[in-house]
Amino acid sequence: MNKIAIEGIGMTSRRTRERLIERLMEQGISNYQVLELIRSTPRHMFLDEALSHRAYEDVALPIGYNQTISQPYIVARMTEILMGGAKKLGNVLEIGTGCGYQTAILSRLSDQVLSVERIRPLQEKARKRLSTLKCYNVQLRHADGGFGWPAKGPFDAILSAAAPREVPSELLPQLADGGRLVTPIGDERKQHLVLVTREGDEYTEQVLEQVNFVPFLSGTVR
Ligand code: SAH
Repeated sequence: MNKIAIEGIGMTSRRTRERLIERLMEQGISNYQVLELIRSTPRHMFLDEALSHRAYEDVALPIGYNQTISQPYIVARMTEILMGGAKKLGNVLEIGTGCGYQTAILSRLSDQVLSVERIRPLQEKARKRLSTLKCYNVQLRHADGGFGWPAKGPFDAILSAAAPREVPSELLPQLADGGRLVTPIGDERKQHLVLVTREGDEYTEQVLEQVNFVPFLSGTVR
């Protein structure tokens, strides 16, 4: 992948990205590390060519199989929530790799990212992009993320990019003591971001802003 492909030109240029960062700051994203990563991660590479000119608009866009790449604001917000006051994330579980954009952002902030996706062809495309961007601390798995990835836990941070009706109970014991889990919760009509923190055997749930995610589905697609 050459420099122009990664840095982008025209609608994917540095100036266009700069405007996105300004917009995210106006919307209240304040974590400097997160903003810097949104600036430096080539979102246009995660989209089909026909849509890449829209990569730095703050919107979700289709990635095929009825799924969408998350809106930059949401990626920034969820990452910021997971970080809390920390500088680094440690061992991270992501559910819903999708195109791999959020995965790439997480990989730069973590020791390791374990990411699960139920739709195989999306996962395969994500794998290629993450390798092009040298995200070597990422492992991908084709599975139903409702079961987490117990063999790789416990996780300091868990992020779900799809909305279940309630926090999947299998995930809670995979959260490390002091760990943070962020997920949208709800149905097609109404969803909220929820932050679950663990202290010993005590789990505390905080309901945050209203959001709009694709549903968390069970089973896998080949
Ligand atoms: N952050 C991703 C979001 C993709 S949309 C991106 O920006 O591309 C959410 C993804 O979650 C979809 O790819 C969907 O297939 C996946 N998903 C939904 N339910 C899942 C489950 N139970 N296990 C694993 N992946 C799931």
